[in-house]
Amino acid sequence: MQILNGKKTAKEILDTLEIDVAQRAATGKKVPHLAAILVGNDGASETYVASKVKACNQIGFISTLIHFDDKVAEQRLLEKIEELNEDMSVDGILVQLPLPAHISEKKVIESISPLKDVDGFHPENIGRMVLGEEEAFISATPHGIMLLLEHNKIPTKGKHAVIIGRSHIVGRPLSILLSNNSKPGNCTVTVCHSKTINLKEICLQADIIVAALGVPKFLKVDMVKEGAVVIDVGITRVPDAGKKKGYRIVGDVDFDEVAPKCSYITPVPGGVGPMTIAALMKNTFKACVERN
Ligand code: NAD
Repeated sequence: MQILNGKKTAKEILDTLEIDVAQRAATGKKVPHLAAILVGNDGASETYVASKVKACNQIGFISTLIHFDDKVAEQRLLEKIEELNEDMSVDGILVQLPLPAHISEKKVIESISPLKDVDGFHPENIGRMVLGEEEAFISATPHGIMLLLEHNKIPTKGKHAVIIGRSHIVGRPLSILLSNNSKPGNCTVTVCHSKTINLKEICLQADIIVAALGVPKFLKVDMVKEGAVVIDVGITRVPDAGKKKGYRIVGDVDFDEVAPKCSYITPVPGGVGPMTIAALMKNTFKACVERN
């Protein structure tokens, strides 16, 4: 069994980006600028945005964090996005989800210019991704998983990949990427969800299992074939009085039991999470290069 170390792979990607940014700066070219919008004070969202801003600072990107309180009017948020769309200095815009109930996520996502939509949630980018067009911004978590498979040379061609979870941000786009005629890719993909019958039997046929449902330790050892590759996307905060923060992060895989049976497995934390950030930085770099 080998650990698919997302933290290490993400660092390699970020180190390369740092060199690329320095080269752009040295030749007088624009360096990437990411604008992140955070609404409210959700602890997890604050942590995610903070790590994105930190990554920007580490590799020489410019970052701007715009923080609204949770009562902000939808119109105010849309106006801010319009301002960022028109701001020539800004290459990438991300709005941290989820948003408060009075704000339409659909409206917000669709208001971001597809050319600056580095989260890859805009319907235009999703459409381009489905068509396999290179211009597409691919949403950061599925993109990060593909980069993790690529950098670690995990064979995917002809493999049966089972994805648990069909969300718009993880399971659904990943199912398309893994089935594309690409490298990595060329998998036969099964997408499972909350209404799937015989999930265990389906998982037992998988060469690659991606657990992206948000249920801590859901994937048990008796659901995994010997030698499978297991990718754990789940992030759930579980109360833990023994931790300084009062919680610990738990993935969707029962890691201790499942790991010995796998050929490769991602840990949580340190697996898909850092890869998501690396993919976002790659998207922002691409936005900058394409716009300038
Ligand atoms: P979501 O809540 O939008 O979707 C969950 C999906 O799981 C749904 O499609 C649902 O049908 C399916 N599901 C739920 N219970 C199931 C069950 N018992 N059996 C089979 N399928 C079931 O979730 P999401 O936004 O895709 O996030 C999933 C998890 O991934 C969460 O823990 C989230 O925090 C985490 N996440 C991590 C990253 C990262 O960077 N590592 C990024 C995004 C999401």
